[in-house]
Amino acid sequence: MTEAPIIGIHRHRLTTDGEGVTTLVGFWGCPLTCKYCLNPQSWKIKKCQTFTPQHLCNNVSIDQLYFLATGGGITFGGGEPLLYPDFINEFRSICGDDWNITLETSLNVPLKNLQKVCPSVNNYIVDIKDTNDEIYKKYTGKSNVQALENLSWLVKEVGQESIMVRVPLIPNYNTPEDIEKSIKLLEEKGLKKFDKFSYTIHNLDKKLKPQSEEADNETDVH
Ligand code: SF4
Repeated sequence: MTEAPIIGIHRHRLTTDGEGVTTLVGFWGCPLTCKYCLNPQSWKIKKCQTFTPQHLCNNVSIDQLYFLATGGGITFGGGEPLLYPDFINEFRSICGDDWNITLETSLNVPLKNLQKVCPSVNNYIVDIKDTNDEIYKKYTGKSNVQALENLSWLVKEVGQESIMVRVPLIPNYNTPEDIEKSIKLLEEKGLKKFDKFSYTIHNLDKKLKPQSEEADNETDVH
């Protein structure tokens, strides 16, 4: 039986991570270790609740009317949802085709994971961070080569209309000039939709949060 560890389910989100009213489902686990990750419990905590696709569908279908009335649905984030392609495919087969499924992902996973889940997904919010591999490595602990290759594949497969790319200004790691370079390279790949924002110092612990998400909940990590 397919199961997945889920760290949080957040209902009634409006236009923060997809069209219409959405429910954000956060998976446990991530291949990256971003320095300002808002949700380090997604890769540190070893125990969290496990769901089957059916169990999750029963849980989130309480908002079916909102999804249908607004063109919303489920946004899978985390953590990294592309660690769970079989779970997402099974969830799609159970919930049907009426809900939008959006992934919030770094794309830094094996291409086969993305290829497997692609037919089940309507939209992608890709947290590319920075296209400069040195900057990316310093910030995430891993190279971005796989993520960029996957993004190139994805644009060709689904078209740029379904993909929003996040290009944050990350204090101490990149600059506005770096962001412009990233956007230029991404435009060369055919991408047109970008979410430019800046992390800002927040609270006394100097934790950094995206400005647009300061009032939001902790699973909003990408
Ligand atoms: S910010 Fe996102 S990609 Fe980075 S470590 Fe946290 S969950 Fe993973």
